[in-house]
Amino acid sequence: MSPATRSGTIEVIAGVMFSGKSEELIRRIRRALIARLRVQVFKSHLDDRYGGVAVVSSHTGVQLEATPVDSSAEIYKAVRDNTELLAIDEAQFLDDGIIEVSTRLAERGVRVVLAGIDTDFRGLPFGKMGELMAIAEEVTKLRAICVVCGDLACRTQRLINGRPARFDSPLIMIGGCESYEARCRRCHRVPRHDDDQTRML
Ligand code: ADP
Ligand code: ZN
Repeated sequence: MSPATRSGTIEVIAGVMFSGKSEELIRRIRRALIARLRVQVFKSHLDDRYGGVAVVSSHTGVQLEATPVDSSAEIYKAVRDNTELLAIDEAQFLDDGIIEVSTRLAERGVRVVLAGIDTDFRGLPFGKMGELMAIAEEVTKLRAICVVCGDLACRTQRLINGRPARFDSPLIMIGGCESYEARCRRCHRVPRHDDDQTRML
């Protein structure tokens, strides 16, 4: 069926870091390629820019080539007329225009699959992920394993020099050693103040 006659869809794969979003996105892309669909893969991640090539990579080491993009407009311009499946990784970093771009492409018959982190390190909705989940036909919410207690993890813990990052900590740390962990709601810590011992580990 040509893209014009097929009904398009929006699918969202959402979840915490390490929850398997990239694995799931790669699985859907591979199946589409087996079905000989025309696929385009984009990744919104400025840090990963490298000679115009980026990769969708899972923490298990599986990789797939992607086109790095800064904005939703860039995606819209780069989508070919005959593309049947459009995969976008790290969708939480995209601007507001991603809602209209996804909608227009789905209306054109494209299957749009977006993977992204649903909540930021504070536990608040990340970028346009919430709205994308609302307008999608299909939403897959994934959880990781909490590295503290072994329960299912739905939050991303940001650590700066090994300590939970404060609610108002700067988005970019200079000289600080920052890292991220998957944690459950109970083990997730976001202190409001440096002396907020009740919320610190
Ligand atoms: P995401 O794209 O959501 O960050 P990935 O697809 O890159 O996730 O990686 C998922 C893989 O990460 C799992 O299959 C597992 O092998 C590994 N992993 C590492 N830490 C964890 C964790 N805390 N919980 C679950 N999986 C983890
Ligand atoms: Zn826990």
